[in-house]
Amino acid sequence: MPYKKCPACGHKNKVNSLTCENCNCDISTVEVIKEEKGKNVLIEEPKTIIEKEEYVEFLGEDFVIKAKDGDIIGRGMESVGSEYLQNVYISRKHIKVYFKEDGWYIEPLKNTTNDTYLNGEKLEKGKLFKIRRGDIVGLSTKVKLEVKIKR
Ligand SMILES: [Zn+2]
Repeated sequence: MPYKKCPACGHKNKVNSLTCENCNCDISTVEVIKEEKGKNVLIEEPKTIIEKEEYVEFLGEDFVIKAKDGDIIGRGMESVGSEYLQNVYISRKHIKVYFKEDGWYIEPLKNTTNDTYLNGEKLEKGKLFKIRRGDIVGLSTKVKLEVKIKR
């Protein structure tokens, strides 16, 4: 509804009013204001949230390591419970797993005595390497893990 806004008190008066219904001041020359219709509130489409993959799996000979972002894989991992990972060629803190916007990465940790391999290639310690489904991560030359990533 259009109205006349009283300059003195702000009351919204009928358009044909000459005096303010509230404070009685002269509003004969006050401009009529057309009330804005309730604007259609644009409801934003919910943004597509790229679900963070919860974990990446490393498939060993007789075990699977499920690693989350920030996890460290190494010898004697309780969660694995395989004697396989007791291998002395594996460091206690061998690689760290990262999840980034574009996928999963591993970092051969700096102070490991044992090397890490990706598809047979020796990796530099302290750097991040992207891993993809089907990649073979070697903890030393003894233990091979196949990368299992969903999708
Ligand atoms: Zn008024």
